[in-house]
Amino acid sequence: MGITRSMMLMLGPFVLVGACYGLSTPRGTAEIRNLAEKAWKATFPEEGPDPEGTEFPDLGKVEARPRSSLQRPSLFSRPSIIADEVTFGSSDDEEPGSTTQQASVGGERLTTQCERTADLLREKLPSECGVIVRAPFVLGGDGTEAQLEEAYEELIAPITRTLSRCYFDTPPSGPITVLLFSTDQSFQENAQRFDRRKRQEYYGYYLREERRVMLNTSSGGGTVAHELTHALAHFDFPEMPEWFDEGLASLHEEAEFADDGESIRGRSNWRINHLLLGLRRGQVRTIAELLEDPEAVRPKLDAVDYAHSRYVCLYLQERKLLTEYYRALRDGHSADPTGRRTLEALVAPKTLDEFDREFRQWAVKFRPISWRLLFETQRL
Ligand SMILES: [Zn+2]
Repeated sequence: MGITRSMMLMLGPFVLVGACYGLSTPRGTAEIRNLAEKAWKATFPEEGPDPEGTEFPDLGKVEARPRSSLQRPSLFSRPSIIADEVTFGSSDDEEPGSTTQQASVGGERLTTQCERTADLLREKLPSECGVIVRAPFVLGGDGTEAQLEEAYEELIAPITRTLSRCYFDTPPSGPITVLLFSTDQSFQENAQRFDRRKRQEYYGYYLREERRVMLNTSSGGGTVAHELTHALAHFDFPEMPEWFDEGLASLHEEAEFADDGESIRGRSNWRINHLLLGLRRGQVRTIAELLEDPEAVRPKLDAVDYAHSRYVCLYLQERKLLTEYYRALRDGHSADPTGRRTLEALVAPKTLDEFDREFRQWAVKFRPISWRLLFETQRL
């Protein structure tokens, strides 16, 4: 495989995104375009969306496209539109070293645990759903076992391998359940069945207390990568500050594997729209504030804060500091829980203020992405 094997989720056919969106909105193409233009011009009067960017899709044409279940095209080609959330449960304060570490004594015990988790899953899932065990993962969902196997081979295994190589030194010592649902209806029904969740906008979420990932795979492989980052990080650095947890996870929504398949690199994605708007509106905190604010994600500015966290991670990655920062943050957590001093040491002799200024100068050079995503941005 000489060529970079890429998830390139954002570069997937926007027509499919259009189909996805078109099915969920009564608005027509022209109306969406007008709203997007109007809202954008109100904020950026002197600029328009990237003229080289993706054209707004013709929704009329694409609705006829087949929408398959767990086939590779749907996993690889659609960007995740709205990523996720991590649910921190009360029982989640458990250190990976307690019951789970016990479980890790010998691979056999982990596999046994996985088999038990799989048995419970079979009882809970509708009878037509497949379940397979690939320790430490237990996969289930509305696909066949062959489709789950494909999802494991094509996405979950390579993402896990590269994330473990780049960041996570402690391997999972307990089962991670990954449930994949191929349609919005199936995802919503099972979110209700498992977690009593009413209809939600997210395409995926991770429940730390159960170490369970729930995914709507129609949103693409980016959501898988995002949630897997959370799930694997849980074992390696359970106290990870929230901003970094979300920044690193969302960095992998749009990522590519290196030629040798041994590392993963994030790329720019649709969240740039939120960052650019946030910067223009004065809603983006300094990096020092981001690190030190106990409210890492502000409820009314969550899209801006996710984008900010993601692009700080991307900036660190571009400066070849991300892996180093992750490990230093983790290893120095007890002495520097916010990670501020750790970052200061990493960017020295620059101050954090200088680093922040450079970050902003770098960020504003990105252009917003696509009419549709522009409209999505403006809704929030
Ligand atoms: Zn997340």
